[in-house]
Amino acid sequence: MSVELLDVMGDDLAVVDAARASLDKESEWDYTCTGYTLEASFAPGDDQYRPVYQKCLQDKDRRLINFLARNGHWSPFGQTAAKFRLHMPIFVARQWFKHSAGILNNEASRRYISDEPVFYMPTWRSAPEKSIKQGSGSELSVEDQRFWDFKAQSIYEDCRNLYNQMIEEGVAPEQARAILPQAMMTTVIETGNVASFARIYNLRNDDHAQQETREYALSISEEMKKYFPVSWEALTKHEDQ
Ligand SMILES: Cc1cc2nc3c(=O)[nH]c(=O)nc-3n(C[C@H](O)[C@H](O)[C@H](O)COP(=O)(O)OP(=O)(O)OC[C@H]3O[C@@H](n4cnc5c(N)ncnc54)[C@H](O)[C@@H]3O)c2cc1C
Repeated sequence: MSVELLDVMGDDLAVVDAARASLDKESEWDYTCTGYTLEASFAPGDDQYRPVYQKCLQDKDRRLINFLARNGHWSPFGQTAAKFRLHMPIFVARQWFKHSAGILNNEASRRYISDEPVFYMPTWRSAPEKSIKQGSGSELSVEDQRFWDFKAQSIYEDCRNLYNQMIEEGVAPEQARAILPQAMMTTVIETGNVASFARIYNLRNDDHAQQETREYALSISEEMKKYFPVSWEALTKHEDQ
């Protein structure tokens, strides 16, 4: 299971400038602050890294971003983009793909590829308490982990073998994939903007969300807060905080 940031477009200033477009105005970074550190840059021809510099939003621009987030003005946030490579089990991808507004994704669907499938082995948890309909309880004992690992591994092997046999004997990959379990890992290239990823994070970094899915939301948050610190905080701040 992994989350890899591939590309980023825009920053907090891009959000501010998109909002200020309505007044035909632009803003500037504050270079005197001791706020967020951006990465050192390496220019062609330089033989050493340039010193790390610091820049942050002016207070008025921070206030503007918080105002936009608080009042649901999402379009300035939509003028940004981040692209990720997500390596996730099918059962997580199913949940993840429910989030569609402002999100684009492409996936290796196994219609065109027939390489060896890889399966995710969970750390097994107990069923939720009787009063709770969704989620799960605590991790099972080491003995139980071993027991269910063994059982699952054996089914995974059977599925893998049958799949390979079908491919070898000429069954169409788009049909052979039907016998693969929900634990199969899939790779997704996904692009969204800071508002759409914040929406996913807010819904999936929650006690009610499945733990495996929550881990992806947390990893995405770690990346987004590096590149859009003010916007990310404004969009993911819950009302009860
Ligand atoms: C804890 C949890 C449990 C869940 N359990 C289930 C489940 O059991 N079964 C299941 O099917 N799903 C389940 N879901 C998925 C859930 O129902 C939503 O589909 C998912 O959270 C995506 O919602 P979203 O608001 O981010 O959608 P997005 O597609 O990202 O849309 C964002 C917002 O845009 C607006 N919007 C989008 N499309 C339209 C439209 N066509 N018309 C009008 N407004 C629109 C809405 O305001 C929407 O909230 C669960 C989600 C969570 C977080």
